[in-house]
Amino acid sequence: MINQKGAGLLCDLNGRVSEVIFDGIGISKKLEDGRGLAGLFSPASRLELDSFLREVSSSGASFNREVFCLDREKCLGFTLNGLKTSEGLVITVTEARPESEYDELFNEISALNNELVNARRELARKNVELDRLASIDPLTGIPNRRVILEFASEHFLLAKRYNITFSLVMIDLDHFKRVNDTYGHQAGDVVLKKTGVLVERNLRDTDHVGRYGGEEILIVLPNTDASQAFQVAERIREDISREVFQAEGGVSFTVTVSLGVSAYDGEDSLETLLGRADRALYRAKENGRNQVHS
Ligand code: GH3
Ligand code: MG
Ligand code: MG
Repeated sequence: MINQKGAGLLCDLNGRVSEVIFDGIGISKKLEDGRGLAGLFSPASRLELDSFLREVSSSGASFNREVFCLDREKCLGFTLNGLKTSEGLVITVTEARPESEYDELFNEISALNNELVNARRELARKNVELDRLASIDPLTGIPNRRVILEFASEHFLLAKRYNITFSLVMIDLDHFKRVNDTYGHQAGDVVLKKTGVLVERNLRDTDHVGRYGGEEILIVLPNTDASQAFQVAERIREDISREVFQAEGGVSFTVTVSLGVSAYDGEDSLETLLGRADRALYRAKENGRNQVHS
């Protein structure tokens, strides 16, 4: 079958054309310079043509090799199919992509690329948001237990390795069940939120805070010894005790917190250090609440 959109040629192993079998794309004219098939291609594409011809002659056939004709700045592509016969190589040449199709293709690729860039941006934005959602306690807006424990663990390793001290402060709202029972769960939520704000207000940028449990907050104070941590804890205690909350019906009330402090002292695990803060907190409760123990 004669392919109207292509040309069939008989040529030798070097691509020198001995016969044009059919010519649906006016290739004969382009071959007139006597350079054979090589005359169709730019120098770089000629290497590709050579490898195509070698492949046909060694394997007997090669199909659908796309070779570009960069001559005359047309950016034309030809698809070559080749078969080795007793008379030489039968090569069919099909104009793969006329120039206008290249423009369309280019536009399509540009549009797809833009879409991809936008999708990547959106994904990155969602990942940041996801990260935030996975790290922040939704009620108080401070980091959650996982995050604060990660910070604590990091600082524990640093302290152990470089002998830099750091401290933990464990905070627990006093008689919080009573606050809920008396003023309602929603008022309790407001207290928790505000407590988070008040704690953060008393910390440096390098300190970390997180919701450790229901009404418990953990603070990690890097580079801070026991007496400095005690002062921070005391400041937080006072700040919270001064805050006046409003319940329904115009009732106002205040809350207090108890705090336990522990400073790194060569402990062999973070759990041991957390345990010390917890026991200090317990003593603060036992001793009448609204106080700091270490
Ligand atoms: P203590 O002084 O010994 O700590 O007494 P407490 O009542 O604070 O301690 P307890 O462990 O008996 O109760 C803690 C309360 O904290 C009970 C629980 O309903 C409340 N709570 C925990 N999480 C939340 C929360 O997200 N919102 C509110 N409103 N209350 C919470
Ligand atoms: Mg508690
Ligand atoms: Mg409590």
